[in-house]
Amino acid sequence: MSKPGRNDPCYCGSGLKYKKCHMKEDQEAEKERSHVQRAAGFIRRDLLKFARDERFAEDFANALPLYWNEYYDASNAEQMSQPEALRFFDWFVFDYTLADGQRLINLYVDEQMADLSVHQQKIAADWLHAEAGTLYELMAYDGQKLQLRDTFTEETFEVYEAGGRGNVELGELILTRLVPVADRLEFSTTSAYLPSAEITDIKEKIGAAKEAYLAEHPEASHTEFMRRHSHLLVHHALLEAKNQGRPPVARLDADRSDKKTQKIAQGMARFKR
Ligand SMILES: [Zn+2]
Repeated sequence: MSKPGRNDPCYCGSGLKYKKCHMKEDQEAEKERSHVQRAAGFIRRDLLKFARDERFAEDFANALPLYWNEYYDASNAEQMSQPEALRFFDWFVFDYTLADGQRLINLYVDEQMADLSVHQQKIAADWLHAEAGTLYELMAYDGQKLQLRDTFTEETFEVYEAGGRGNVELGELILTRLVPVADRLEFSTTSAYLPSAEITDIKEKIGAAKEAYLAEHPEASHTEFMRRHSHLLVHHALLEAKNQGRPPVARLDADRSDKKTQKIAQGMARFKR
């Protein structure tokens, strides 16, 4: 919807000029949205900084080869590209279980909440409950609005992505995490995708892993299972890329992240080893 001019009739049909009717309300809503967007950007960066604390160095060294199926480990972590580093840390923060049994995002909320603004607190609290990273099928799109379906639970979501669908075609799979930002869902970080030729047997692989996990943990939810096994999606992508003879993980949009986040991602190469 394009905004009416101050002296144009309001879009609501009241017959009043826009400035006398919905203008103020719209301006407030816009201001609120930009506060929330800034808060989400801050939390994204602050989680990355938090994850790079020296006290997590040992967890980092254990998590790297698990996520990358030994493609990267503590000895060559600095070779991760920026999107790879961003995706790895996203998983490390949201899904990985640290040696003490906690997730990094839990620790972050416990330790940092008091120092955050009201908007930042809301984002952090919401993201604590974000679903595990998983594969979503692109069902439909309209500009920046994407209709996605969880490949495993078949739940559907409408997602806002500033870069739109990038180079992903209908029916292809996006490897990502959805996080709420105010009234909509966004990707938590730079996403990867599985081109149609590389989807192959991923559903069967995850199905078999879930069956084995449920045999050991009969009470586990799908989210719990995915938190413990979402790295298998990356392993699949690595294997398929190798079979196709192309670089490891295809990118949805390598240039998506903002400059400040990119700077932090560059610094990750120098993470304490
Ligand atoms: Zn109006």
